[in-house]
Amino acid sequence: MLQTFQHYIDGQFEPGTAHFDSVDPATGQAWARMPAATSEDVNRAVRAAHRALTASPWRGLHASARGKLLARLADLITRDATMLAELETRDTGKVIRETRAQIGYVAEYYRYYAGLADKMEGRHLPVDKADMEAYTRREPLGVVAAIVPWNSQLFLSAVKLGPALAAGCTVVLKASEEGPAPLLAFAKLVHEAGFPAGVVNVITGFGHDCGQTLTTHPLVDKVAFTGGPETARHIVRNTAENLADTSLELGGKSPVLVFDDVDLESACNSIVAGIFGASGQSCVAGSRLLVQRGVADRLLAMLAEKAARIRIGSPQDLATEMGPLATRKQVEHLQRTVKASIDAGATLVCGGGTAEGFAPDSHYVAPTILDCPHADIPSLRTEFFGPVLSVIRFDNEAEAIALANDSAYGLASGVFTTNLTRAHRLIRELRAGIVWVNTYRVVSPLVPFGGFGQSGLGREGGMEAALAYTRTKSVWINT
Ligand code: NAD
Repeated sequence: MLQTFQHYIDGQFEPGTAHFDSVDPATGQAWARMPAATSEDVNRAVRAAHRALTASPWRGLHASARGKLLARLADLITRDATMLAELETRDTGKVIRETRAQIGYVAEYYRYYAGLADKMEGRHLPVDKADMEAYTRREPLGVVAAIVPWNSQLFLSAVKLGPALAAGCTVVLKASEEGPAPLLAFAKLVHEAGFPAGVVNVITGFGHDCGQTLTTHPLVDKVAFTGGPETARHIVRNTAENLADTSLELGGKSPVLVFDDVDLESACNSIVAGIFGASGQSCVAGSRLLVQRGVADRLLAMLAEKAARIRIGSPQDLATEMGPLATRKQVEHLQRTVKASIDAGATLVCGGGTAEGFAPDSHYVAPTILDCPHADIPSLRTEFFGPVLSVIRFDNEAEAIALANDSAYGLASGVFTTNLTRAHRLIRELRAGIVWVNTYRVVSPLVPFGGFGQSGLGREGGMEAALAYTRTKSVWINT
């Protein structure tokens, strides 16, 4: 018997008229039945969000009251953390130790934005005109279509809903068709927190119909998207219709630079966590390792040894460090690109195929390391969204910078060196939205997050993100 989930539209839970089955990546078998939003469902959700924006109690609510609702939502997430983590693990294969840890961050982001709700101030402007006063107001941008990919759906929606609701916007949140269970369950907490009907609507469905209707909808004022670059191009074409504002958090091929002056053991631990954490299914995965030639062989041997010790197993088991990939499509893409890279001259250090000892239909792959002799190896350019580390050697700092910046993406980067002046030079030179020095993959609600180039537009996190959900009104008063 499959578990069933519902949409949340205009304050009501609805079973939906069309459905699809969700697959457990650890078994390859369907475990839940999800509603698939039709164009009519999307329309109703957007209209409800628009009504809530313009006429419901939401419009008249003081900013501090919005903050209280967000804080209440954060408390409910903390209360139900175990249930939410288990659902995310079941539906996406992300290991339970990671989903549990991430739920903590999810609540933290909502709390942070709860505190910012009444701090989005306008400004008094001392204009040089007789008898004139001028000031600006920050008003909510409007109806937000928040679209998230399957990995980390609770987290990736928190970085959109937190600032959007703090700013007074209303939201239609579209969960990915892969692994939507945690977000559909989260809708119940939104309801319990007491947000007025229509302020938050949660639906799921397929990109080509439900996503398409949402992003072209004339009542949508902003599309906040996280996902792949191809989908982002569709969305930008779609928003040419409604001229909605857009923020795009896309993929990455993030470089990690290791110089020969560092403690290799500590760098090695960060590199392993940076690429094999979440089975590599992270937009900021440190998937390109650039290592100074003198220490390359030693570091590679250490990495291969640590990769072999990673505990692969059931995602529900707390001891498991790496679970299956979320979809079969990703497993096939990974295997194809690893083969093309070996054909182009890369040496397979470890992994490369499915991990042994699991059900034939499951999506387990082994941690993989490719030693690349030059920069034209496909694995150095293609985002796997899986546990594949591509290693390339450099001789000096200038070469390291050139290799690091030789990518269409520009999301994150890591630098391991004990030379402070070199670290500062690299911070200036690296073409990436995030530079982590002697650490990797640390996030905080206070710190903006986002990429350069094909990695996206706009920033999530911090006050910057909250202001991006407001629009400025300029006021002139003849006194
Ligand atoms: P995807 O682009 O296929 O799907 C993302 C979402 O877009 C899904 O909800 C999907 O239904 C929807 N969608 C698909 N087509 C659409 C359309 N035409 N109109 C509107 N919506 C549409 O991405 P994915 O495979 O689910 O996720 C992996 C990608 O997400 C990777 O490229 C990864 O790097 C990226 N990602 C980025 C970040 C970040 O913060 N930068 C974080 C996580 C993942």
